[in-house]
Amino acid sequence: MPTDFASLDLSPALLAVVQELGYTTPTPIQVESIPVLLAGKDLIGQSKTGSGKTAAFSLPILQSLDLSSRSLQALIVCPTRELSEQVAREARKLGRKHDGLVVLTLTGGKPFAPQSDSLARGVHIAVGTPGRLLDHLTRGTIDPSGVATVVLDEADRMLDMGFQADMEKILEALPKKRQTVLFSATFPKTIEAISRTHQKNAVRVTIDDGEQPAEIRQLTLLAERDDKLSALYWALAEYTHESALIFCNLKATIAEVERALASSGASVDSLHGDLDQFERDQVLARFRNQSVRLLIATDVAGRGIDVEDLDLVINYELPTQPEIYVHRVGRTGRAGKEGLAVSLATSRDKPKLREIEELTGRVIERVKRDVRADPGLVSHAKAFARPAPMDTILISGGRKDKVRPGDILGALTGDAGGLQGADIGKIEIQDRLSYVAVSRAVSRAAVTALNKGRIKGRRFRATLTGRR
Ligand code: ADP
Ligand code: MG
Repeated sequence: MPTDFASLDLSPALLAVVQELGYTTPTPIQVESIPVLLAGKDLIGQSKTGSGKTAAFSLPILQSLDLSSRSLQALIVCPTRELSEQVAREARKLGRKHDGLVVLTLTGGKPFAPQSDSLARGVHIAVGTPGRLLDHLTRGTIDPSGVATVVLDEADRMLDMGFQADMEKILEALPKKRQTVLFSATFPKTIEAISRTHQKNAVRVTIDDGEQPAEIRQLTLLAERDDKLSALYWALAEYTHESALIFCNLKATIAEVERALASSGASVDSLHGDLDQFERDQVLARFRNQSVRLLIATDVAGRGIDVEDLDLVINYELPTQPEIYVHRVGRTGRAGKEGLAVSLATSRDKPKLREIEELTGRVIERVKRDVRADPGLVSHAKAFARPAPMDTILISGGRKDKVRPGDILGALTGDAGGLQGADIGKIEIQDRLSYVAVSRAVSRAAVTALNKGRIKGRRFRATLTGRR
């Protein structure tokens, strides 16, 4: 099926954008979904993580927007705040030739009033979590009358998180004449029922890759409780990675593993339930932009983590359910790159491993290495204790202050900043603040330059983030 974007009936502006973004060929889910969605049909779709579903539904939405009217025309519902932010980022990226386009995120954990104010000023696309979207609909701060398309992204995860009632109420609050799009990794009965009740003649698109994305290599290493830390050190040293996500089942274990890794000189941080939204954001930003190499999380705290270039997932403990294993492991090997998942299993975990293999239909390779009897282990294991290449600077201005990535880049390079482009990494702009990654060696100089200089003619505060 040799299809390119040009044969998908996208507008010249959107074709130019996908080309600029380096999307040379559409992914299978995009090839199948875009024509259906451009034709205004309902769709129920499934494809593996990282297969480009966001663009699959965002491109048709962008194409059908009426920018002359500042009314809400598309609603995208996502399970978590981070996923909402990511979808909004991608929609803005794809819509960068749509002058005046407003994409707003509406998620919990943030004050309500600024969101209502933004809604009142007019937006075209809203992306958010079920609870908060429903709040806005109930209070009348969202006017649903112009909503032509609604997308439920990762619908099965929203069910898992207990959002079924909210999802249905949202659908009921929208105009009857609308397009309903549903993406889900699995189709349990509840999803089928939602589709039957709320969609009309939905076209079903399934891109069959098997249960488990093929490009994830799965290994397991036998290690009893007392040997787990040694096994972790060994695995981190053995399997080269830029960044790794380490899953534990309990918060208490996170603390223990974090302490051990940090005292060995590793670049590590953790996501646990005690963090407030700002702290959680900051940890994730630092992990995404390579200011910290290792991130430890539980399943709950780790919800919605989506990090490009994540090349290693470690299960410090096997999860209680095989489905959770699939979720965890699915975070590596995205966008066609090979990923690696290493699970540390005790001898009691053997039945669990078999359950996982049954669910995924794939064999998990057993690594033959006795971490307990290995004398070379300690020196070998030190190899993982490399510092992260970047540092993260927090700047007290964001999108609502009209700060754009180019402005920050400008303030850091050239005569004013004195940094080389190569020293500057990922720049993430949020509503009222921004994170910029800079090479560790020049991070202090960069902070000084930012605090002395101006961005868009204004002064903002810049501070280094993270523990030091
Ligand atoms: P999914 O929602 O299916 O998990 P995403 O929409 O998050 O996947 O896409 C994963 C990554 O692939 C994103 O970084 C996105 O920018 C990129 N991407 C999407 N479509 C294409 C394409 N046609 N070619 C190359 N990269 C793409
Ligand atoms: Mg997605």
